[in-house]
Amino acid sequence: MDLKKLAAALIPDGDLLPIEEYENIYPERVRAPKAEVTRLAPSPTGFIHLGNLYSALADERSAHTTGGVFYLRIEDTDEKRKVDGAVESVIRSLKYFGIDFDEGAEIDSPLNNYGPYYQRQRAKIYRAFVKDLIERGLAYPCFCTAEELDAVREEQSAEKKTTGYYGEYAKCRNLTEAQIYEKLNAGIPYVIRLKSQGSILNKIAFRDAIKGEVTVTENDQDVVILKSDGIPTYHFAHAIDDHFMRTTLVIRGEEWLSSLPVHIELHKVLGFKPPRYAHTSSLMKMDGGTKRKLSKRKDPELSLDYYRKAGYYPVAVVKYLMTLLNSDFEEWSLKNHDADYRTFKFRIEKMSRSGALFDLDKLNDVSKTEISKLSAEECFNFLNGWVQEFGTDKDRAHFENKEYIIKVLGLIMGVGGKKRRKDIERAEQGVRLIDYFFDDTFAPEYSYRFGKDTVNTVLDEFIKVYDPADDNTVWFSKVKAIAPLIGFAAETSEYKKNPEAFKGNVSDIAEILRIAVTGMPNSPDLCTIMNILGKERSVKRLKAAKKENKCYN
Ligand code: GLU
Repeated sequence: MDLKKLAAALIPDGDLLPIEEYENIYPERVRAPKAEVTRLAPSPTGFIHLGNLYSALADERSAHTTGGVFYLRIEDTDEKRKVDGAVESVIRSLKYFGIDFDEGAEIDSPLNNYGPYYQRQRAKIYRAFVKDLIERGLAYPCFCTAEELDAVREEQSAEKKTTGYYGEYAKCRNLTEAQIYEKLNAGIPYVIRLKSQGSILNKIAFRDAIKGEVTVTENDQDVVILKSDGIPTYHFAHAIDDHFMRTTLVIRGEEWLSSLPVHIELHKVLGFKPPRYAHTSSLMKMDGGTKRKLSKRKDPELSLDYYRKAGYYPVAVVKYLMTLLNSDFEEWSLKNHDADYRTFKFRIEKMSRSGALFDLDKLNDVSKTEISKLSAEECFNFLNGWVQEFGTDKDRAHFENKEYIIKVLGLIMGVGGKKRRKDIERAEQGVRLIDYFFDDTFAPEYSYRFGKDTVNTVLDEFIKVYDPADDNTVWFSKVKAIAPLIGFAAETSEYKKNPEAFKGNVSDIAEILRIAVTGMPNSPDLCTIMNILGKERSVKRLKAAKKENKCYN
């Protein structure tokens, strides 16, 4: 058979470069010997999930802890799955979690020397290589229809044979030259298949960067490499791209492990040295006592938008994922409490071989700890980010007053104090905590534990003596001074000695004031709260609390 003529008939493009040229167009990268070149290669479906973030973090860390490069390639060979804005959404979502690409699709970078980074724009490169394989007798056209392929599959299943296009089932492998041209002339659509040289009798030993030694059976399937629309399949495109984008380490989900024999053969026939592969285990969760994969349908926490909307602190999500990626991260993190997680020595080889268990409660704990470490300014920026996107109009108006909010946050988060507040998991909780510092969201419940006369006396007396210039000690002495007027103990020690002698205690007086000013029986330091609110507002609240004290028991 005249293979050159056949290749020209099947791939008629007149503008393909000789394949050798691509080695010069995309030369080896100049990099340190251990520097890794990694990539995220999503299809532009618009759905980016926790598994992608998990994988992207492993990619990004592998590249950046070795002085390498992390790039974004868009695998858009399946036009039907494309969603507008999906690429921007991938970049934005990962950026939210502090993950940035060095080069790639839609990335403005001087390093963009290995593009285009959209597979559909690389069609000429793939077609040049497919043509070369046909010329070398390693690929051939297949005219089988979907119905024919289904029928073969059914027959194979019925006979309990491996399904697929191989050996005796690879009908088009043996078409004569005349038969091929007859079909071509009749305009019958065709795909191009690899003419596999492998046999399932052979085993290949392979070293996965995560799973270690793996033995796989050689491929014997004549897989499709070029679809009837002239665009390659994932298998073929990724082999070409990872070679010419000079990827050194491919990190991808373990669902691709079964395609590895095909990929090994593709690299072999193309004359490429394969990159190292690292197949990550799926993220799992406990569900009613059993472990199962996180599912798009059942688990909202699989979507990355979930974390943004719920207002998780992004560094907390990343740090939690780091504990799943490298089991020694947690210990490191405890020892290096304030260190940036990026200073941890991440290594792909330390990743677990079995499924990583994703536990939302643990994430919440990490989140609480991380939020408790923020300065008032950092806390403002974090909460403000959430408020601008997901808060109410009132929240947004409040956050215009940055100086005031920073003062409030300093107090309620215990910034600079000995005891930091450690119960905030998400932005929304933090935002709701400052509601009572604004009149339009101050919603007191006035749940006093004392009767009307006691409450009114406390409020009246305090209004008389309150001076915002008082420091904490003077402020408290004024609270104490009210005690004898209502039969309360001015000193807790006094009260403890003889509780029957008093109707209450000085802390009960403070509670009445607290409920009046904040609407709640518990709050941070009340003297400081009143200072932040200012005299006018504080007194107004003390008065309003008295008039309205209709919930007395
Ligand atoms: N485009 C593939 C996917 O969406 C990427 C697999 C890989 O990373 O090689 O899963």
